[in-house]
Amino acid sequence: MLVPVLMCLAAGDVRGASGPTAEVVAAQLRDAAMAGHDIAYSWVSELTTRFGPRPAGSKSEQQAADWAAAKLRALGLENVRIESFPLTAWVRGSESARLIAPSTQPLVIAALGESPPTPAGGLEGDVVIFPTLTDLKAAAPGSLSGKIAMVAQRMVRAQDGAGYNAAVPGRTDGPQEAAQRGAIAYLLRSVGTDSHRQAHTGTTRYVEGRVPVPAFALSPPDADQIERIAALGQTVRVHLFSGASYVPDARSQNVIAEVRGRERPQEVVLLGAHLDSWDQGTGAIDNGTGTAIVTAAAKLIRDLPHRPRRTVRVVLFGSEEVAQPTAPGHTFGGHSYAVNHQAELANHVLAGESDFGTDRVYMFALPSVAAHGEFARTLLRVLTPIGVLTSDRPPEDFGADVTPTVEAGVPPFALSQDGMTYFDIHHTPDDTLDKVDRAQLDQNVAAWAALAWLAADSDVDFRPRTAPGDGAVKP
Ligand SMILES: [Zn+2]
Repeated sequence: MLVPVLMCLAAGDVRGASGPTAEVVAAQLRDAAMAGHDIAYSWVSELTTRFGPRPAGSKSEQQAADWAAAKLRALGLENVRIESFPLTAWVRGSESARLIAPSTQPLVIAALGESPPTPAGGLEGDVVIFPTLTDLKAAAPGSLSGKIAMVAQRMVRAQDGAGYNAAVPGRTDGPQEAAQRGAIAYLLRSVGTDSHRQAHTGTTRYVEGRVPVPAFALSPPDADQIERIAALGQTVRVHLFSGASYVPDARSQNVIAEVRGRERPQEVVLLGAHLDSWDQGTGAIDNGTGTAIVTAAAKLIRDLPHRPRRTVRVVLFGSEEVAQPTAPGHTFGGHSYAVNHQAELANHVLAGESDFGTDRVYMFALPSVAAHGEFARTLLRVLTPIGVLTSDRPPEDFGADVTPTVEAGVPPFALSQDGMTYFDIHHTPDDTLDKVDRAQLDQNVAAWAALAWLAADSDVDFRPRTAPGDGAVKP
């Protein structure tokens, strides 16, 4: 399906006054993707099949990066390179949990990423339940001495994923808040929207170089059960075991590839996604599909008979899942990229990341200066036929990996995906290839290819007219 489109473009030869306009080319890219381009699906299929889970700093993450670099070269992308950086890797090990009073029953849990192990024989304690993290924070110092704190907050299902942002502080900050009050361990109702007997892992936060107590996500039905027992007035006592460990001298890496611009190659439109995944599934929707979408979009642009004016750069980041706000030695791919490329960031014209599964794109958001101009109107005309709206607000959530780059002053864009079901599977053993919907994957590629092409072939300055970024990368 792709070939006739490209032949048609080639007939126009070098684009000039008689060649197709950028909008026509964007529409052709869209149609080529929607017609069933196979690159994205075969990418995510091969990635998840060959390497399975790709935890940050692991051998399989490194092998996947080597494979991705070779694949990007074979697809015809240029300047393909791997940039390595150090980090402390975390290894789950074996883990288990059970209710030991008032009855005995197994509990389905998953240690939160970066969580320390329990003693070899496990630990046990009475559970003190807090409806929200705010309630835990209101508990008096020392009031949880010898206890296991549990936050039972439910995540709200919402199209834009707002429920995640509301619930995730319970995961990142809960362990330290529990430890400060004397707790020996921390339990969290999984940050997820399903009701299956699986737990949603995810990273928690280092405080002064460590996570202070063992911390676990509970499957939603197990959290329900504990709450119901407590509501009967009975004491809930649990036994927890984790054999987690750390690898202090691990390495991760970013993979970079380009379609070089024909007029101003130093100006970069950055398309990001992360190559690492959690360890329990195979990282298909988080974030194999993201890497597939940005790669396929760049490949479609690469195969045009003429290059865009600016460079399209694909960055497949390492170690996104363990991103820590700061902390030397616990860096992640997004931070490493912004540091390594600091001198170039003034020439990055736009940056975005695909990291929200495979459901369809329903809205785009552009920096304020471009949100109501001709660029936005052109993009809307191209994307309206595939069900994409325009946002009247600048992007607020543009992905963890590009955040350090955006904080250094690079304007972000967002192609928002429908998140109604994403958090049923996110960070669970159920994140596997069969969840990928090929038609929706193609629609994502269409939106990314069109936006990337239009931005790269334009001379639009997306930076704010006032208060430009200082170009500094935050530590
Ligand atoms: Zn992700």
